[in-house]
Amino acid sequence: MPITDPELIRIVERRLFDVKICRRCGAKNPLRATKCRRCKSTDLRLKKKATAKYK
Ligand SMILES: [Zn+2]
Repeated sequence: MPITDPELIRIVERRLFDVKICRRCGAKNPLRATKCRRCKSTDLRLKKKATAKYK
């Protein structure tokens, strides 16, 4: 189901990108996380913006 409301899209995008990705195992972590919740690695990156398009 495509989302057409631009305000809603903004909210969804903020949710999607407020996340850190573990470079070792690829797990999603909270933005405030300092280490991975799955493998305890500290090698986290922020999820890049404007890359994913969800339809
Ligand atoms: Zn990890």
